[in-house]
Amino acid sequence: MSDDDAVEALAERLRGASRVTVVTGAGVSAASGIPTFRGPGGLWRRHRPEELATAAAFARDPKLVWEWYAWRRGLVASAKPNRAHEVLAEWSRRFPRFRLITQNVDGLHERAGTSDVIRFHGSLWEVSCWEDCGRTPARWRDERAFEDLPPRVSSSAPGPRHPRPGRRRGVLPPRCDACGGWLRPGVVWFGEPIDPEVLEASREALDCDVCIAVGTSAVVYPAAGLVTTAGARGAFTAEVNPEATPASGAVDLAIAGPAEEVLGRVDRRL
Ligand code: NAD
Ligand code: ZN
Repeated sequence: MSDDDAVEALAERLRGASRVTVVTGAGVSAASGIPTFRGPGGLWRRHRPEELATAAAFARDPKLVWEWYAWRRGLVASAKPNRAHEVLAEWSRRFPRFRLITQNVDGLHERAGTSDVIRFHGSLWEVSCWEDCGRTPARWRDERAFEDLPPRVSSSAPGPRHPRPGRRRGVLPPRCDACGGWLRPGVVWFGEPIDPEVLEASREALDCDVCIAVGTSAVVYPAAGLVTTAGARGAFTAEVNPEATPASGAVDLAIAGPAEEVLGRVDRRL
């Protein structure tokens, strides 16, 4: 099937759909300048993300891991949503039941205007208590997490524009007000379970007419199994990714191309 035919085939399915679920990964934010984990730019100070995004890494070196998250918050704060985020935000208003499940922690879908995003892996913009002391909410937005943002971030940044005067970069994580333990990023690290409420919301979202995986390498479970589950329940399934993934052979339609371009082309045909 030609590229154009594939785009038309997906548009055709969407024209007849009311329940549409999209599962996104780091690839949707690539065009906004946010590196994926496995692509070029995924390394930070010679560390692989798999060595930093774990509880063991935080236990060993909380400062290193906190600095990496501060760096990522800085990148995202100065980035803007791209056409892929915008098209999905438009679809969230177009389809009677649209659900967006994202593995991304950057908040760019929300900034593009999609509400009720199911955040499978939490958020860069939240923290939780490392000691899990039970005297705080499970996750919350804490202004102290923004103090390490670089000074020049755009006015659309979700945090304050400048760090507090007198604060040095490269600081330790803040402390929990309730127990004095470290605060950790409010994200799901490799090896950690997904929040049961998030899993439940995702399972419900998989009862749909069309399910599309966009920009995910489909190797991190359980997120990787979402689209095939939707297919098993009767949904038409598609993938949008410039590279083939383990899911490519399992979906009804694999479209090879960048999300910001392919989603725009599909949208123009709706
Ligand atoms: P991944 O890094 O494993 O894979 C990224 C995928 O995106 C690859 O398959 C790649 O081919 C594809 N891709 C690259 N450019 C693209 C484009 N322009 N359009 C469409 N696809 C493109 O990312 P993952 O599958 O999301 O899994 C990694 C985990 O890392 C996630 O769970 C997520 O929590 C986290 N992560 C988040 C961010 C973010 O929030 N922006 C960034 C990196 C990693
Ligand atoms: Zn605590």
